[in-house]
Amino acid sequence: MQIHFATGHILKPSSLLLRLNKAHYPVTVLGYGRRIGIWFQGCAIRCKDCVSRDTWAQDEGAAIRVRDLLDWCQQKAADGVDGVTFSGGEPFDQPQALNALVDGLGRLRKRAGLTLDLLCYSGYPLKTLTAKHAAVLQKLDAVIPEPYVENQPQGGVWRGSANQPLIALSPLGKARYEHYPDTTADAKSMQIAVEDGRIWMIGIPARGDMATLENLCAARGLRLEQVSWRR
Ligand code: SF4
Repeated sequence: MQIHFATGHILKPSSLLLRLNKAHYPVTVLGYGRRIGIWFQGCAIRCKDCVSRDTWAQDEGAAIRVRDLLDWCQQKAADGVDGVTFSGGEPFDQPQALNALVDGLGRLRKRAGLTLDLLCYSGYPLKTLTAKHAAVLQKLDAVIPEPYVENQPQGGVWRGSANQPLIALSPLGKARYEHYPDTTADAKSMQIAVEDGRIWMIGIPARGDMATLENLCAARGLRLEQVSWRR
């Protein structure tokens, strides 16, 4: 089978490219347990007040072969990974790469006998995902769809606004997410990573957290430049 890209190139699945913003392990604030986090680069949705504007441009980030990303996931899986979270950016703006990644991870967990769940964020409505990407949805364990809406109440744990549901899609997804306590701001937490001279925050901030952080830094004489929520 060969896959045709909009660019006109023809690539075999093993050469399929994914435009990546970031991959990180362990992630503990975006789903059940200790997880691999994969942030897709590029988002056409552009929600008002998105805190990840660095993921919007389609032509930034790194083009990485899906099979290389899967090899990296396999190395991390040896550490006892509980799941993989796809975020961004918009994973469904790269449907072929997302599908190949989900297939590869499905094979990996079967081969290695791992109980790892696949959780995907999307800013598209569930109705759109169901109509256009049913085949991918069927292979996920849980999805958090719908755009971030800044004038909605704050969302529960792992979600930005209250319109974004956490939907379990498989028996494993139901076991882990169906009855997960839907706590609000108090349960929100962030991880901090430092890489390549940049500070990188993982997680869904509570409302006002970014402004508070900037104010606290300013009070200590530290000015934040090039932040992803004000790009
Ligand atoms: S919140 Fe998510 S879907 Fe919305 S613009 Fe930001 S990255 Fe895109």
